[in-house]
Amino acid sequence: MNRMFPTKIAVGAIAVLGGIALAAAPAHAQKRDILIGGGSVTGVYYQVALQTCDLMNKHANENYNCVGRPALGSVFNVNAVNRGLLDFGVVQSDRNWQALTGNADWDGKPVEKLRSVFSMHPEAVLLVTRKDTGIKSVEDLKGKTVNIGNPGSGQRGNSTDLLPLYGIDIDSDIKAEGLQQNEASRALVDKKVDAFIYTVGVPSAAIEEPANSTDIDILDINSDAIKDFISDKPYYVMAKYPAGLFKGVDEFETYAVKATVVASADADEQMVYDYVKTVFENLDELKKTHAAFQVLDEAEMLKGLSAPLHAGAERYYKERGWL
Ligand code: GLU
Repeated sequence: MNRMFPTKIAVGAIAVLGGIALAAAPAHAQKRDILIGGGSVTGVYYQVALQTCDLMNKHANENYNCVGRPALGSVFNVNAVNRGLLDFGVVQSDRNWQALTGNADWDGKPVEKLRSVFSMHPEAVLLVTRKDTGIKSVEDLKGKTVNIGNPGSGQRGNSTDLLPLYGIDIDSDIKAEGLQQNEASRALVDKKVDAFIYTVGVPSAAIEEPANSTDIDILDINSDAIKDFISDKPYYVMAKYPAGLFKGVDEFETYAVKATVVASADADEQMVYDYVKTVFENLDELKKTHAAFQVLDEAEMLKGLSAPLHAGAERYYKERGWL
């Protein structure tokens, strides 16, 4: 008996501790972390990351803990998703195609594991300047300080495509800056840059903030050379925007892409399925979270995707009868 007693206590203690551990463990141990990469804090990608995570945390909280974080933009997000550093990333449709096919930033090195999940809002390639710079057209940028986008952003590639189409050599005709967009918007107001190029959903705080603090213009990017450039690329469209979208800004015409959400082929199928299902089943809620999301439409969200669909996304779309 004497020998049994301590043993019983020990067994009992283990059982109690085990019971506590078992009671506390399931909720925590079964939750899977999801990390989604967006863009600059004043852009719309960060809102995609934040708001879709918010839906996951509200509607799929028993299984997932989702975190949306700012990131450097499209090129960074493709590479981070490919390396497994992000579960999902937001990426311009032109970068989605270039990564898949091994072009531009991925020259000769296609990202074979890149998979599309769905597309989100349209994004316009915006050339934003202050009215006091006297810049009235893309050609007028010669001799000026222009933010062409930070390395890792989607707009940097758009800048390097479009400026030469207007006869502008980025290395010798302008002083090119590579600020992140939150800094670039501030630098425009502070007269540290004369203009910036930013590919973003409309509206966006990144444009509203300078528009509300100084007099800005958004210029046309619609020359014949641009129209010719986009004509054989299905991920670009010309788009006209009405006057008054931003304070003091007249109507303008430019070309546009779509924001797409991507994952790696290695991402867990059930996790991707649950994310897609949660987003589509709560689309009305998502649409209310940002003005750029008001245009979201189920059928449109399956368009503009170059990389093949992720298996988890495909499963959901087949269930809905969309494929
Ligand atoms: N289109 C930008 C990029 O690819 C990001 C825009 C945003 O953050 O909304 O880097």
